[in-house]
Amino acid sequence: MSLSNIWVVVEPSNGTLTTTSLELLSHARNFSATVSAITWGDDATALSQEAGEFGATTLYDVGPLNGALPGVPVAAAIAALIASQGAPDAILIPTSYDGRDVAGRLSARLDRPVLTNVTGLSDEGGLVTEHPGFGGSQTVKARFTGEGPGIIVVRAKSFVVEPTEGLAATVVAAPAGDTGTAGAATITTSHVEERTGPKLEEAAVVVSGGRGLGEAGKYALIEEAAKLLGGAAGASRAIVDAGWVPYSHQVGQTGKTVKPTVYIACGISGATQHMVGMKGSKNIVAINKDADAPIFQIADFGIVGDVHKVLPALIEALKARG
Ligand SMILES: Cc1cc2nc3c(=O)[nH]c(=O)nc-3n(C[C@H](O)[C@H](O)[C@H](O)COP(=O)(O)OP(=O)(O)OC[C@H]3O[C@@H](n4cnc5c(N)ncnc54)[C@H](O)[C@@H]3O)c2cc1C
Repeated sequence: MSLSNIWVVVEPSNGTLTTTSLELLSHARNFSATVSAITWGDDATALSQEAGEFGATTLYDVGPLNGALPGVPVAAAIAALIASQGAPDAILIPTSYDGRDVAGRLSARLDRPVLTNVTGLSDEGGLVTEHPGFGGSQTVKARFTGEGPGIIVVRAKSFVVEPTEGLAATVVAAPAGDTGTAGAATITTSHVEERTGPKLEEAAVVVSGGRGLGEAGKYALIEEAAKLLGGAAGASRAIVDAGWVPYSHQVGQTGKTVKPTVYIACGISGATQHMVGMKGSKNIVAINKDADAPIFQIADFGIVGDVHKVLPALIEALKARG
């Protein structure tokens, strides 16, 4: 273990920490003797148990943001912490809208570069990051040189969530101080996309549809199969771009990364940009009428057939099973 101190930005969401935050905390323990976390919101103390359980010994609390966007105050608070007590070896930040905002602003404040789109982290006498390139067909390795801290923005589902026997983290106030006009932007409304069933990124079963469905209305088959399997409905970018389904369903390089127990790709060719978002699934089932479709190269179970015949048959069988 060559690092002594890693900080992880952990995002609060409805009274808990986001899954990506827990992934980063869990993985950081492999490299660093000490892992600390930074969060914000009305009640950091309520999050200290969870932060400690996943490996943080200290939870720095930026405090209530009073409707402000997190980027400015959280970056200011981290910079202030570094000024008062020194820099950690690295700061890990989840890839999310707020995480990216924090990273960019922190980079400007510290005058340090950021490594983004990270999907792997290893200790090779210092942290080495992995970044998928060319739609996931190549992996680029990178490391920071010079003075720390390295700012590293990590994609969801890159690491496994593993709890420890840890006690609650000690909460330490880490106020942002005066952020001036930069901190004046406030959230006026936020919209939570309506959803039934599990979140796409967290579902144990994902049924995804692609252009092979032929028309927007056929996506109902995907949703029905997903519902019957207690899973979530995903999509290729082709049908998101065509306006058949919202972007929140997109799986892939520019969409979500999923790692379900079962991933069923229906009428999806298997472009590298799609596969990079689902190839970590435990069992991949592909339904495609073209036996040479690239998706079959990574499928554990392939059905060469018309999705309009196979999917209704699957749905009937699931209904019959009860
Ligand atoms: C920078 C960049 C980022 C991208 N990011 C993403 C991303 O995040 N996610 C993503 O998905 N894509 C992404 N793409 C797009 C990607 O390259 C592909 O264009 C896209 O994934 C293709 O979607 P598709 O498989 O649904 O469509 P197609 O490639 O058109 O494949 C349709 C498939 O359906 C099959 N089919 C047709 N009819 C039937 C039938 N009746 N029954 C069964 N099978 C049938 C065909 O044989 C074919 O294999 C990105 C591209 C770029 C350049």
